[in-house]
Amino acid sequence: MSAQEFLSYVSQAIFLALFVVASVRLFRRPSWAALDTFLFFAVIAVILVAGDVADIVGFAGHPTLSVVNWVGISALPFLLLRLVDDFRPQPMWVMALATLAWAGVALVGILTPQPWGLVSLVVVAFVFALGIYASLGFLREARRSSGVTQHRMQAVAVGSGLLAVVLLLAGVNVVFPDATPVIGVVNQVLSLALVLAYFVGFAPPAFLRRSWQEPTLRALLAEAAQLVQLPDPRSIARRIEERAVAVTGADGAGVGIWDEQAGVLVFEGANGERLIPPGDFIAGRSFQAQAPMFSGRAERDAPEHAAEYRATGIHAIAASPITSGDHRLGLLVVYAARPPLFTDDVLGLVGLIAEQAALVLRSHQLLREAAQVRAMAEMTRLKDDFLSVVAHDVRTPLTTILLNAELLEQTMDGGSSNARRASSLRTEALRLKQLVEDYLDVVRADERRAARREPADLVVLVREAIDSMGEDVRRATVDGDPSVDGGYDAPRIHQLVQNLVSNALKYSEPDEPVQVTVRADGADAIIDVTDHGIGIPDDDQAMLFERFHRGQNTDDRRYGGLGLGLYICKQIAEEHGGSITVTSRIGVGSTFTVRLRRWAVTDEGAPDAVGADEIAS
Ligand code: ADP
Repeated sequence: MSAQEFLSYVSQAIFLALFVVASVRLFRRPSWAALDTFLFFAVIAVILVAGDVADIVGFAGHPTLSVVNWVGISALPFLLLRLVDDFRPQPMWVMALATLAWAGVALVGILTPQPWGLVSLVVVAFVFALGIYASLGFLREARRSSGVTQHRMQAVAVGSGLLAVVLLLAGVNVVFPDATPVIGVVNQVLSLALVLAYFVGFAPPAFLRRSWQEPTLRALLAEAAQLVQLPDPRSIARRIEERAVAVTGADGAGVGIWDEQAGVLVFEGANGERLIPPGDFIAGRSFQAQAPMFSGRAERDAPEHAAEYRATGIHAIAASPITSGDHRLGLLVVYAARPPLFTDDVLGLVGLIAEQAALVLRSHQLLREAAQVRAMAEMTRLKDDFLSVVAHDVRTPLTTILLNAELLEQTMDGGSSNARRASSLRTEALRLKQLVEDYLDVVRADERRAARREPADLVVLVREAIDSMGEDVRRATVDGDPSVDGGYDAPRIHQLVQNLVSNALKYSEPDEPVQVTVRADGADAIIDVTDHGIGIPDDDQAMLFERFHRGQNTDDRRYGGLGLGLYICKQIAEEHGGSITVTSRIGVGSTFTVRLRRWAVTDEGAPDAVGADEIAS
C-alpha cells in the first residue's frame, strides 16, 4: 500500500465514523441541524463507498459513477450552507439562489454527456464559492460563541474551507488532467486535514472538550467571587443572564428566582415581573423535575404556550435548575430562534452557569443571614447596655419608694382605703424592683460564667430560698434527701429556686400544692419543682429558656412577667456545670428539673480535691 493510499484509507475511515456519529445524533435528538449534518456525511459516505465498490467490481470510470459523484459533491457545500442556516438564519435570497444553483448544477451533470469540460470549471467555481461562504458563516458563529462551541465552530469552519479547496482542485484536475499526480497528492493531504478538522468539530474527544472548557470554568469561578458582593439576588440574576448569553451565544436568557412562600419562579424582564409556577412552560417543568431540559421546538413541546412562543420567535429553549444541595434557588433558561448546532455543548454550558449561579446565590443568602445575626447580636448588646444603665439608675429611687410605701402602710389604719392604696403602692414597687433586678441579673449572668462556690447543703439553701418568699409559699413543700452536700453559689441558688417556685405558684390555682424535691445523683444534685397548674404548650417548651420568651399559655393581664426568669435559671444551672429541663402537659401541670454538679470540675474533668473527698465520704 502506498503512502497516498494509506492516507486515503485513514480519511475514509474517519469520514465513515463521523457518518455513524451523525446518524446516532439524528436518532437521539432529531432537529434540522442534526438532519443536515447527517445528510452531509451520508453524501460523503455514499461517494466513498460507491467509489470503493466500483473499484472492486471493476466499475471504475463508468459514467453513472461520475454522475453520482457530480451530484453528491456539488451537494456538499449546499448542505453546509443549510447547516449554517439551521442555527443562524441566512437571507432568503441566498438560500433560494443556492438551492436553484445546486439543482441546476445537478441537472447539468445528469443531462449533459461527459466529459463536461469547461462547464465543469464554472460549476467548480460555484461550489468553491458556496463552500467558502459556508465556512465564513461558521467562523462568524465561532466569534459569537465561546469555549467548547467556539473551538468546534472554528474546526468546522476550517474543515469547510479545506473542503472548498479540495473540491476546487478536483475540478481543476478534471479540466487539466495533466496535473493529476500533483493535485492527487495535495488533495490527499488536504482531505486528511479536513477530515481531522471535521472530526474535532463534530466529535471532539473528551480531553479536548475539557481543555476548551477550562477557561470558561475558571472565568465563571473568578466572577463568582465578584457576583457574591452584589447587593441583591436580582442584580446577580441580571449579571448571570448576561453571562449566559455571552457564553452560549443564545439570543436571550432569563434567571427566575424561586419565591418559596408564593411558590413561583420570579423572572424580571423589560416588561416587569413574570411569575411562573413549577410545571408551567418548559422552564417550570425543568424546575419541577429538578433536571435540565432542552427543546428544539418549544411550540410542539409546550403546545399550551405555542402562540406565545411563535409571537416571540423563540423555538429553542434550554433550562437548568439553580439548586444548591437541598436549597432550590431558581432556574436558568436560555432561548434562541433556532436550536444550536451543538446542543449537548449548550446544555453543558447552561448547567455550568446554573451551578455558578447556585454557588453565588446560596453564598449571598448565607452572607445575608450571617449579617442579620451579627446585627441582632449588636442590637441585643446595645439594648443590654442601655437597660443596665437605666436599671442601675432606677434602682436607687425605687428602693426609696418601696421603703416609704412600707412605712406608710405600717402607719395606716389596716382597713382604710389609704392603707389599701399604700399596700398596692408597695406591691407594685416591689414588682418593678423585681423586674429591674431581673434585667441586671441577665446582664450580669452574661458576663459571668462560673459560680462562686462555697461548701453548703443544697436542701438548706432550697428551704431558705422558699422561706424568704412570704405568705403564699406555704403551699410549697420540700422533700427528698435529708441533705445534699456540695459547693454552691448560695445567692444564685436562692434566686433559681425562687424563680421556679414563684412561676409554679403564679401559673397554678391558689389552692394547688407545689412540690420541691432535692436529691443527690452521684456527682450531681437534682432539684425538681412540680406544680399542677396550667401547663405549657409543646411548641413553647423548646424556647422557654430563651431570654424574653413568654409562652402562649400566659395572658399578659393575668400573669405579669418579662420572660427572663427561666433564662436566668438556665444561666445559674450552667454556672454550676448543669442544665435545666421541663416536662409539662396542658391543664395537668409542669415539672422543672435542674441538674447541678455538686462540686466544681477541674480542667481534667475530675471533681476538685475537696469535692472528690466529699463525694467519696
Ligand atoms: P415570665 O414568667 O416572666 O413570663 P419565665 O422565663 O419565668 O418568664 O417563664 C417563661 C414562660 O414559661 C412563661 O411566660 C410561661 O409561659 C412559661 N412558664 C414558666 N413556668 C411555668 C409553669 N410553672 N407553668 C406554666 N408555664 C410556665
